This record gives sequence, C-alpha cells and structure tokens, in this order.
Amino acid sequence: MKKWLSKLLIMGIIVGMPVGVSANDFSGNMAHYQELCNRRSSFQANLSTCTAFENFLRSERDAARQARVDIQGQINQINNDITALVNAIQQNEILIEQKRQEIAQTEEQIRITEQQILELEQEIAGRIALAQEFHNDNMLIDFVMSADSLEQFFIKMEGVQAINRSNNQAVNDLNDLTLSLEQKRATLQSETIALEQLQQQQNQMIIDLRSREVQLFEQMQAEQRRQAQFNTNLQNININDIIASSNGLTIPVNTGWISSIAWFYPASFGGGWHPGLDIAANTGTPITSPANGVLLMTGSVGGGYGNHMVTAHQIGNDTYTFLYGHLSRFARVGDTIQQGQTIGFVGSTGFSTGPHLHLEIFRHRNQSLEQVINTFAANRDIWFGLGYTSRGNCATVCRLAPHETFGLRFGQRLPG
Ligand SMILES: [Zn+2]
Repeated sequence: MKKWLSKLLIMGIIVGMPVGVSANDFSGNMAHYQELCNRRSSFQANLSTCTAFENFLRSERDAARQARVDIQGQINQINNDITALVNAIQQNEILIEQKRQEIAQTEEQIRITEQQILELEQEIAGRIALAQEFHNDNMLIDFVMSADSLEQFFIKMEGVQAINRSNNQAVNDLNDLTLSLEQKRATLQSETIALEQLQQQQNQMIIDLRSREVQLFEQMQAEQRRQAQFNTNLQNININDIIASSNGLTIPVNTGWISSIAWFYPASFGGGWHPGLDIAANTGTPITSPANGVLLMTGSVGGGYGNHMVTAHQIGNDTYTFLYGHLSRFARVGDTIQQGQTIGFVGSTGFSTGPHLHLEIFRHRNQSLEQVINTFAANRDIWFGLGYTSRGNCATVCRLAPHETFGLRFGQRLPG
C-alpha cells in the first residue's frame, strides 16, 4: 500500500477526513501551507496534507459565509428596532405638542383670572376709599343716621356689610381659581419634562443602535473579505486543477501489436472472456502514464495479473482508472504522476504466455479524483465493485473497451 494512501485510509477511518495536520496547525501557518500547496511540485509531494488544507480552507470559507449571514440577521433586527423607536418618538412629539398647547391655554386662563382679580381688588379699594370718604366726611354716618327709624338704620348697616362680604367672596373665589390653574400648569410642565426626558432617551437609543449597526456592518465586510480570501486560496490550490490538468488520454505502450481486444480473446487463442486490451511488446518496454494523475497501488500476486498497478486520472467531470498487468517491474514514482511519465515496464508475470501489457480501463462517471481516491482507500478493490467479468453500468462505473478508447483494432501494429 502506498504510504500516503495508507495515511489517508487510516485518518479517514479515525476522523472522517484525510487529515494529517490539524486545523489549528493550518490556521497558525496559513502562509506556509499556501506556499506549500500553491506550487504543483510541492503539492504533489504533500498530497494528503494539501488535500486536508484544501478542506480546511473550504470549511473556513463556509464559516465566514455563515457568520456574514448571522450578522446580516442582527443588522436587520437593529433596523427594525430603529424603525420602532422613530415611530415612538414621532408619537411622543405629538404628545409634547399637545401638552405645550394645554400649557399655553392654562397660562392664558391664569392671565385672564389674574386680570379679573386685579380689577376686583381695584373695585374693592375704590369702595373702601369711598367708605372712608363717607366716614371722613361723616357721609356714611349721615347715610346711616339718615334712617328714619332704628329698623331702617339696621337695614342700611346690613346693606353696607353685605356689599363688603360679597366683594371679599369674589376675590377669594378668583384666588382659588388662580391657585388651581397654577397647579394645573405645574402638572402639565412636569408631564412635558417627563416626555422630553423620554424623547432624549429614545434619541440616545437610536444613536447607540446606529453605532452598533456600523460596527456590525464593518464585521460583515470583514467576514466578506475573509470568505473571498478563502475562495481565492481555494482556487489557487484546487487539487483537480493541478493533478488533472492534462488533456485526453495517451496509450501507455505505443509499440508492438494488438494481440487481443475486449471483450473476448480471439478464436485462435481459444475465445473466452477478456476484460481489456493486450499489447504484445518486448520485456522492459516502458509503460507510460496515460494522463496526469495519481498512482493508487502496486501489487504482486503469484497468478493472475502478476506484477500489477492501478492509476487514476480525472478528465473533465469523470475520473478514469487504469489497471496494468504482467509487468516485469515497476518504475520508481511518487504518489502523483505526469502524462507520459514511465510508471513500469512490460513483462510476463502472472498468467501470461508471453511478454505483453494487459490493460483495463474503468470510467467513474461524474466522480472527482478525490472521490475515487477515497473509494479505493476504503475498499482496496482494483475492479471497483465490478469483479473480473462485469462491464458494469456506465451511469456510475463501468469498464471501457480500451481498443475503442484509443481507436485500435485486433492485429494492428503500433508505430513505436
Ligand atoms: Zn489481457
């Protein structure tokens, strides 16, 4: 088992993702991992770490996106609060204006009443002066004494006293009215002060809410920038862009001749099921990678495929895996391989009657390289669930006829 593949498998079982480095290590060394994974060569040399870093960037970007949504919700709530406060202040201003009008009316009533008191007091003063005049000139005495009888004298005295009592009562009533009007004015003024204080508080709340809104808006912009930054970082180190950047598939051995095609051996060879392509070539002929991709496994068994290997390559939306059999030996390669790079050599190990490359091709419809890597790491199945004799369902995974993939026919000589 390849070293990185086993790490990927083990970590996949333990933590559910192919991580060899924790998120904390990534967040503390963003520049380091960005540098490591931005360059194709170092990305390929650190495939599992860079894949985990890519996952880390994706989850950070999603977290930033969610934080922005949450902050937007808070801003919406604050806007609702501000709208409610503005309405309350408008209602308050109407109330304050009503109180001011009531105060003005009360003040007008006080002014009128005070004027009445003044006039009455002047009238009383006039009467007193008149009475004194009577007194001084003995006119009051003359007036009273002019009574023809004692009875008439008392009636006249009573009349003078009644006029004085009535005048005093009117002044007292007006003073009472003034007092109650002044109390009413004081109540209205304190009510107005309370309303004005409430309005000040509401204005202050709006100021506080607006400044909180500005803070939240700045936070949201920061989250937006964070999200955009992670997106940019992700675009810079997309595993599929780096590994599957080759176009099309090239034939792994382009010399010798086609000794058998899919799906049956030739009648001359005895017929029977044959799930791939045989290219007869000299032992030691280089086998080259059909595209940029990853080496999934190499293995040796006493029978069957002998020395064999499996590679994976993403082309467009689909990923292709290649199974190579009967190799004489493997080339020394890393986890990732380039199109045209020698990955092994033709031989005749396993069930073989002469040196040739046995080639099978599987197409994984709409699966990324990472998905196929994970599937293989989980199952270690070189046939991807199809067994030896099934062509499979091409809606998901199926064997392709390699001679059709490369436009070859049985018996054809290859140019190399
Ligand atoms: Zn074969």
